[in-house]
Amino acid sequence: MLKVTKFGGSSMADAGQYKKVRDILMADPERRVAVVSAAGKRNSQDHKITDLLYLCHAHTQYGVPCDPVFELITSRYLEIREDLGITLDLETEFAELKKRLDAKQVSQDEMASRGEYFSAKLMAAYLGFEFIDAANWVFFNIDGTVDTAKSYEALSSMAKGKSVVTPGFYGVMPDGSIRTFSRGGSDITGSLAAAALDADVYENWTDVSGILMADPRIVENPHPIPEITYDELRELAYAGANVLHEGAIYPVRKKNIPLNIRNTNDPGNPGTMIRKHFDTEIDPNRIITGITGKKDFSIITIFKRGLTNQVGILRRILSVLEKHGVSVEFVPNGMDNVSLAIPTATLAPHLYSILAEIQQEISPDNITVHDQIAIVTAVGHQMAFRPGVSGKIFAALGQAGINIRMINQGPDELNIIFGVENKDFADAIRVLYNSFIK
Ligand code: ASP
Repeated sequence: MLKVTKFGGSSMADAGQYKKVRDILMADPERRVAVVSAAGKRNSQDHKITDLLYLCHAHTQYGVPCDPVFELITSRYLEIREDLGITLDLETEFAELKKRLDAKQVSQDEMASRGEYFSAKLMAAYLGFEFIDAANWVFFNIDGTVDTAKSYEALSSMAKGKSVVTPGFYGVMPDGSIRTFSRGGSDITGSLAAAALDADVYENWTDVSGILMADPRIVENPHPIPEITYDELRELAYAGANVLHEGAIYPVRKKNIPLNIRNTNDPGNPGTMIRKHFDTEIDPNRIITGITGKKDFSIITIFKRGLTNQVGILRRILSVLEKHGVSVEFVPNGMDNVSLAIPTATLAPHLYSILAEIQQEISPDNITVHDQIAIVTAVGHQMAFRPGVSGKIFAALGQAGINIRMINQGPDELNIIFGVENKDFADAIRVLYNSFIK
């Protein structure tokens, strides 16, 4: 058995957190591979090392000395080293990096990657595990995708049977330069490592005890989700729940490796287990797996008599949006009208040209635009083909006096999506939570 673990920034924030990580790894000899993030915030006033690295790099780009910021970064790592009583020469590498930075020889990506690099060096020394640089096994293609065959082969030949620590977040381009994933990308590295080594589970250790059924800023003490499928998680993440980097799902999912979200500060908690599907009977009362949503959508509604009977009319409308590079999230339609739900921030710069071009393209009877719309999504594979679920949702919202502005359901019936006014967003989530989950 092999468990690949990934520890996020808050798990790497100071020496106390390093100790917790060690305890977690030592508690289970199957946890032989650790992927680590850069040091995160120690408290809400603190800074993430990655943010400081970007800041430092930006200074040098504008010819402004970044010494105080550089000092902040290095002193965090030196402090962790002192507190843990490790002997590891970091000073030479810091000096070398600073020299190259001042000479403008360090790219933004390389600079950002150093947070993970130094975390992994320290953690490997602390644990007595071998350090494997991500630049030696995460290989990017020229288009920025990962060459998984080459990467998996490299890691498995270097790490098979050993206990190793590797940095998250970055890899190497074909020309040898460092490239990072987008922010939060250490989750992807963990997933790639788990897939490369055919792990039995990918444990993603963070600072929450798994995924919650609703946003705790909206619902008081929401229940955790003990088990969720990859498909449900995708729906939740798409609709706004921010748990894992989206790119982290694909590598493990493809190899059918379960992903377990765990809490470094509460290691006894089983967290959330994510799998392709669950064989065991899931609680039949658990119709909804999670509720989430996003605010600030605009809805363009186009009215034209006989619209649904006209061949190609939807394509003509959508091609106007395509021309402006605006993607449409939902397209609910009626007999004589069709609506387009689009995040206001992406629509606003193009709104007037889009309206004019739709006018020209299909000569509608009327077009309206409503802003300040929130999209609420209830996700749950047990909703599929079960009559009465939407009825119950809409009755609950109706009773609470919340007006529904739009309704949409995916054909796989994994979700029910509806639009309400921004001002009703939190209430809609609470009403749903209280009527389905208690
Ligand atoms: N350190 C990087 C970030 O802050 C990557 C990560 O932590 O996953 O985005």
